[in-house]
Amino acid sequence: MTLKSFQNIGSDLFLAGLNNSNSGNLSVRKNDKMVISKTGSMLHRLSEDDLIETSIAAEDENTSKASREYPVHKAIYAATDANAVVHAHCPNLIALSFYSDAFKPIDAEGCYYFPDGAPVIVAKNAIASEEVGEKAAAVIGKYGAVVVRGHGVFAVGADLCEAYKRVSSLEHSAKIYNIYCNLKSS
Ligand SMILES: [Zn+2]
Repeated sequence: MTLKSFQNIGSDLFLAGLNNSNSGNLSVRKNDKMVISKTGSMLHRLSEDDLIETSIAAEDENTSKASREYPVHKAIYAATDANAVVHAHCPNLIALSFYSDAFKPIDAEGCYYFPDGAPVIVAKNAIASEEVGEKAAAVIGKYGAVVVRGHGVFAVGADLCEAYKRVSSLEHSAKIYNIYCNLKSS
């Protein structure tokens, strides 16, 4: 069951253009551990070997095989009641993140799902850093999703489907926003 949900969401993210061939990572909480995609795995082609179980409280013997973004997943699980974390490299949100400290959707669905928008996190090291983990963990429970400037999106949910829905919806709103801005300036 866990593998199937990882495969479905990993494939959907790639086919929707929210990740490239090797970007992004997924995890679910399992008691005091998480099941997370391994470093270097292709999310749209996941097999049982691409998933690893590792501790949330502290690194263990499996942590080195986990996604490089383990520190961010770990910090989010430790600070929130999230049961799943989805990370993706959504093009429209990444582009917007360069010139904004937060993204507030303007379309009706985006306003409904993200009434307070989503904050943009700025970090010295935007990839696989404890700094991103700390900053994301502090706010993601309130907003449901955060954008890391120049890098991508992290979203939480009760399961992978809900976290994916947040990623997909927020990126869709960013696409609409970018089209709107282009039309307005033309
Ligand atoms: Zn990434």
